[in-house]
Amino acid sequence: MGLGTAREVFVILILRNGATDAELDHVVQRVEALGLSAHISRGTYRTIIGLIGDEDKIREEPLRAIAGVADVIPVLPPYKLASRDAHPQDSVVDVAGVKIGGQHLAMIAGPCSVEEPDRMLRIARAVKQAGANIFRGGAFKPRTSPYAFQGLGEEGLRILQAAGREANLPVVTEVTDPRYVELVAEYADMIQVGARNMQNFVLLTEVGKTQRPILLKRGMAASVNDLLMSAEYILSQGNSQVVLCERGIRGFDSATRNLFDVAAVPLAKRLSHLPIIVDPSHATGRPDLIPACALAGLAAGADGVHIEVHDCPEVAKSDGPQALLPAQYEQLMQQMRQLAACFHKTISTVPE
Ligand code: PEP
Ligand code: MN
Repeated sequence: MGLGTAREVFVILILRNGATDAELDHVVQRVEALGLSAHISRGTYRTIIGLIGDEDKIREEPLRAIAGVADVIPVLPPYKLASRDAHPQDSVVDVAGVKIGGQHLAMIAGPCSVEEPDRMLRIARAVKQAGANIFRGGAFKPRTSPYAFQGLGEEGLRILQAAGREANLPVVTEVTDPRYVELVAEYADMIQVGARNMQNFVLLTEVGKTQRPILLKRGMAASVNDLLMSAEYILSQGNSQVVLCERGIRGFDSATRNLFDVAAVPLAKRLSHLPIIVDPSHATGRPDLIPACALAGLAAGADGVHIEVHDCPEVAKSDGPQALLPAQYEQLMQQMRQLAACFHKTISTVPE
């Protein structure tokens, strides 16, 4: 993923109004000491300097501290591998044969937590029948309370994998700890990094070393820029298979669990080539709002929808109140298929 030639202007410095010749000379000296060259453009009121050179040498902070510099404007985004500049075409991620991105939609469904084998198999078959192409379930649960159900651990991974195989669906599950990345990679076709870990940089680095596709969820107080910087951590380790997920950010209104930021979808697609899906389950926390938000996400250009489905939400080990019943999911899938057809998108599946 090249970013143009070494002659590119990577950063523009704007000098303060009335900067003296001595200040200008000093700025140029500093810039040259950093191994960069300065392209000066003098206006009546302002002088601007384009910095040319190896972009890896350019650090914004020291530049800002030079006397006479009023502003530092990076020309390229700091997430160079994730950016569309680096890779103008949409990336397509492959999850054990299921494609996500470009014209391909991910339809990820399953319970919040992995539960008993029979129930997992029942739900896997039901969502498959409805048209899902990836089965989900958390074996390691990042819970706000240390007293809440933490997941079944490795046993959960086994149950999830077995149900997925039986229903012919690849599986995605969350990893919460760098020590378990290898273990989770053994069982999962796709590894989820959850909202609470979006900026766990050690975890991002570890999942970046695996060859598994990564589902990276947006942190609840993370900007789109933060999300793309976290994707960059994974990409920089050599793993190019990253799917972003908008799952709602913290809002002020407790009427919904989070604030569904639908604009993040077209924004992320403009800034990055990576696929982005939506998770209206965690974004709203309310089954009555999930269908509309799922459809809104697809209409906004999302590359898929991630939904929690449970066949008896009142006994679910986590997130029961926001689960759709299999019949509700099936109905929504019918609507999502119609919308997908309007956009000439397909829902790819693994061969039977
Ligand atoms: C989940 O997918 O069950 C989950 C915990 O999601 P998030 O990290 O988005 O809260
Ligand atoms: Mn959940």
